[in-house]
Amino acid sequence: MEAFAIPDARDRLNEAVDLLVDESIDTFSTQALGEDLVDIRRAMDRLEAEFVRRLHRFYSERGAQADGGGTTVSWVRAHCGMTARAAMYRVHLAKTLGELPATLDSARAGRASFTNVTMIAHLAKDVGVEEVKPFESILVGAAETLEPRQMRTLTQATRLRLDPDGVLADDNRAHERRWFACDQTYGGVFVLRGELDAEGGALLKTAIDALSHGMSRGEVRSASQRRADALVDMAATQLRCGDHRDVHGQRPHLTVTVSADTLRSGVGAQPAELDGVGPIHPETARRIACDAVRTMVTVATPADASVWTASTPAVPLSVGRATRAIPAHIRTALCLRDQGCRFPGCDRPPAWTDGHHIVHWSDGGPTELENLVSLCRRHHRTVHEQGWRIHIADGVAVVEPPP
Ligand SMILES: [Zn+2]
Ligand SMILES: [Zn+2]
Repeated sequence: MEAFAIPDARDRLNEAVDLLVDESIDTFSTQALGEDLVDIRRAMDRLEAEFVRRLHRFYSERGAQADGGGTTVSWVRAHCGMTARAAMYRVHLAKTLGELPATLDSARAGRASFTNVTMIAHLAKDVGVEEVKPFESILVGAAETLEPRQMRTLTQATRLRLDPDGVLADDNRAHERRWFACDQTYGGVFVLRGELDAEGGALLKTAIDALSHGMSRGEVRSASQRRADALVDMAATQLRCGDHRDVHGQRPHLTVTVSADTLRSGVGAQPAELDGVGPIHPETARRIACDAVRTMVTVATPADASVWTASTPAVPLSVGRATRAIPAHIRTALCLRDQGCRFPGCDRPPAWTDGHHIVHWSDGGPTELENLVSLCRRHHRTVHEQGWRIHIADGVAVVEPPP
């Protein structure tokens, strides 16, 4: 008789994974690949649960201390190639799920997804394992049948019933933690960062989604570009139509300073400047000037033109009255005529449009309906900065791409 060593489970697991990773998948149909993805994910879920079961005993019996003296988190981090955060997460799961064996068994057997089971663990961490135990069988049953989104709703509702004060305290903490920063980088672009509480975040997301939905024909923007445009549109509309307290006696607005030369020909002694941002391209200044409140300032010509430099301050001789580039009554008529952005395929409503001078007023174009067309912010930019041309022929807006 010969004795065969029965390979232990760990060896077999490695062999099975070796077989899988050695497999050539080039000829697999997408259907077969799909089945593989489901099976592999399920196996990973079960292994995660098994990892947690073993980690629970390792933690309870102070395995890390026996092996060098560190904490369990630092041991897992060092030996399992995880970040401290990932290691901490596994230890939290071990501490909670280790005390809820029916829950862990369901995940180990592959009946409940690991994602659903982690929600029970979070609930146990929030309200205490003892509070969860009486409901464990109900929660496991739910974890085995519900989608993760429904499971999240269920565990959140359970937490609210078991620990309403804790939920309120968490909400208040999340509200206190809110922050937002909108910082300009050296390259001129702005980077937005921040954190909102659940209600504030949902409000912002609803508004952005509402404004960035509705794909129009020929839409070329990505979803994230549409969301970015929606955020800027919200700011523009708020400044144009919202209720504001005046700042220094004026409605808050963007200020562009530009010489008549730069506005007309793109060449001038001083570049156009957007207040708080810095120099901007003359074409951007022309777009903003298309439909803006303008104030004409006459400055003194320097006595000696040869010493004129960009840093020489202009000396104002007279400051004109602030007037709208497009007076209110013409703007109203324009909105009535155009009913929104006239760029072919665009459906932005009148409130989101600028009046565009087909021949710019700085080039002598009249501010009359025949020389005006409504364009949304994006298409106004398309015309100015991206060089498209637009004119009206027989009442129809015709656009031509840049040559
Ligand atoms: Zn324009
Ligand atoms: Zn448009």
